[in-house]
Amino acid sequence: MAVSPRRGVFPLRDERKTKMKRTVKKILSAALLLSVLCGLLFSAFAAAPGGGDADNDGNVTAADARFALRISVKLETPDAETESACDMDGDGAVTAADARMILRKAVGLPPDGPDEPEEPEEPEEPHRITEADLPADAKILYLTFDDGPSANTIKILDILDRYNVKATFFVVWNSQYAYLYKEIVDRGHTIALHSYTHDYSKIYTGTAAYFNDLNKLSDAVYARTGVRSKLIRFPGGSSNTVSKRYCAGIMSTLTKEVERRGYVYFDWNVDSCDADGKSHTAAELTRYATNTKQQRVVLLHHDAASKRTTVESLPKTIETYLARGYYIIGLTEQSYTAHHRVNN
Ligand SMILES: [Zn+2]
Repeated sequence: MAVSPRRGVFPLRDERKTKMKRTVKKILSAALLLSVLCGLLFSAFAAAPGGGDADNDGNVTAADARFALRISVKLETPDAETESACDMDGDGAVTAADARMILRKAVGLPPDGPDEPEEPEEPEEPHRITEADLPADAKILYLTFDDGPSANTIKILDILDRYNVKATFFVVWNSQYAYLYKEIVDRGHTIALHSYTHDYSKIYTGTAAYFNDLNKLSDAVYARTGVRSKLIRFPGGSSNTVSKRYCAGIMSTLTKEVERRGYVYFDWNVDSCDADGKSHTAAELTRYATNTKQQRVVLLHHDAASKRTTVESLPKTIETYLARGYYIIGLTEQSYTAHHRVNN
């Protein structure tokens, strides 16, 4: 049987050699694997918060890694032997502030900055539709209520809510219902100024008397609502002639003077006739209130305790305008003013 002389002669030595070779190979592979693993481990530590080389000795060591991990996980002061290395703000001590700086750096934020995110801005009030939002040929109804607040105000507000429409309240001073000024504003309506006293014999005696009254009301409304209204309506309207009894020409003066002082005054072009001295039924008031084909209607109503039929007529009036395609919105300083001819 032909046998290879070498194998045949030294079978044991050959086997040992092969074994040794295998062992060496294994050791080398293991060493290589270990060094790769160590490399990965250290790079992981080096990437940890704190930049890895916490003690700045040029090497990333297990001490550095422990240091970084202690900070990132617990936000606590690291042990004494590594303290100086992480004094980020240079105040001679490693504190939670330093740890926070390291973490901020790690997530890409500048080292200095507020800990808490900035307070989000107050959400803006929902946008109220105004004349400017609507097409030029849009039909618009401005419901206006003078002389409130009163025992009827809540009933009126509830009806307006039911139809999801907005109105304008030209208010007087009424301490009994003073809580309603804010209610009007909170429900999204326009609060506007009428008169503090509504006493023609006082307010129409002269410019100073008129503005004393107006300013007093403006302050009272502002105190209760935070709204400094620039929208006004003269008692009796700008066309009233009652004022002649107290001061000739006062309306000619006041209509110019209020505008000079930044106010916008409003009259009306449709009257529900709820204050004409006769007692109309609700159906009659609706008929008067809707008897128009004007594109922009400033409709006069009164919010006074005695005006029961005003409240009763309101749903039908609103329904009629809505059926005709009118937008029913609150007045703003830019709205149609429906000015009358001044007669005094
Ligand atoms: Zn009035």
